[in-house]
Amino acid sequence: MRVLEKAPAKINLSLDVLGKRADGYHEVRMVMTSIDLADRVECEDLPEDTISIRTSAPYVPEDERNFAYQAAKCIKETYGIHRGVEISIKKNIPVSAGLAGGSTDAAATIRALNRLWNIGMTYQDMLEIAAKIGSDVAFCVKGGTALATGRGEQIAPLPSLPPCWVILVKPAVSVSTAQIYKDLDSQPAKHPNVDEMIKAIEREDFQGICHLLGNTLEAVTMKKVADIAKIKAHMKGIGAEGILMSGSGPTVFALTQHESRMQRLMNGMKGYCSQVFAVRLCKPFALLSEYE
Ligand code: ATP
Repeated sequence: MRVLEKAPAKINLSLDVLGKRADGYHEVRMVMTSIDLADRVECEDLPEDTISIRTSAPYVPEDERNFAYQAAKCIKETYGIHRGVEISIKKNIPVSAGLAGGSTDAAATIRALNRLWNIGMTYQDMLEIAAKIGSDVAFCVKGGTALATGRGEQIAPLPSLPPCWVILVKPAVSVSTAQIYKDLDSQPAKHPNVDEMIKAIEREDFQGICHLLGNTLEAVTMKKVADIAKIKAHMKGIGAEGILMSGSGPTVFALTQHESRMQRLMNGMKGYCSQVFAVRLCKPFALLSEYE
């Protein structure tokens, strides 16, 4: 049997880092939303008890370093499953881009294996597996719009954003999330107003959302990637309503509710960077356990 899951990327509308914890992780408060730029994760039964990974992108590991592999291994161990699976990942999300590409593949694997192996996991069960793989995986299990706290593994759902276009521009460099957090520790941090962002989302205030976009990591990554400031300035000149770097970067996104502005941003930014996308937002997944 074969099961297919869509694995959408995320952007951070607000990302605050509160400090470093005793366990080495950073305490964060992040408002995240899923976007319709997605990988495709396919899980198929294998006759022998192994986990095999295939990906369509170079430089993405096809062994135990792949987050999808780690999710499958964790599920097998937790539920005592002795079955084999081949996980094929069609990568559409740029890698090491601040869009949670690896994390969403792991979350899609959790949803897919729950169906393929008929495990009957609840949302809570899935979150427990997710937390063991990486900080952004928990959000990606259900997606939609949510506040993530702790080290990112505690999820509180928020209402969907007003409809809009998300224009993504990925400079031709990749950054290491771990290195950006390390750099942050040695410089003063700027904190976005996460609570006001939540209020703007709750009152469906698109202009307020655009105005409140903020990311503690942006200034850190900007020091390493000069293109970020140039991309932001160019997008502002074209008339984007809100502009921010996502996650640890270097992808920059712009929000607009106007199709004509989206077109202008796409055309304008294609001359700057080869990886430019215009996508819509994604609704949260309805998980199997929620139908029961
Ligand atoms: P985040 O926004 O969660 O910090 P990111 O978008 O910056 O993540 P990813 O695309 O998840 O970064 O890639 C980070 C690293 O994870 C890469 O170096 C890659 O080798 C590794 N990786 C493991 N599994 C995957 C996967 N399924 N897809 C992409 N990268 C993966």
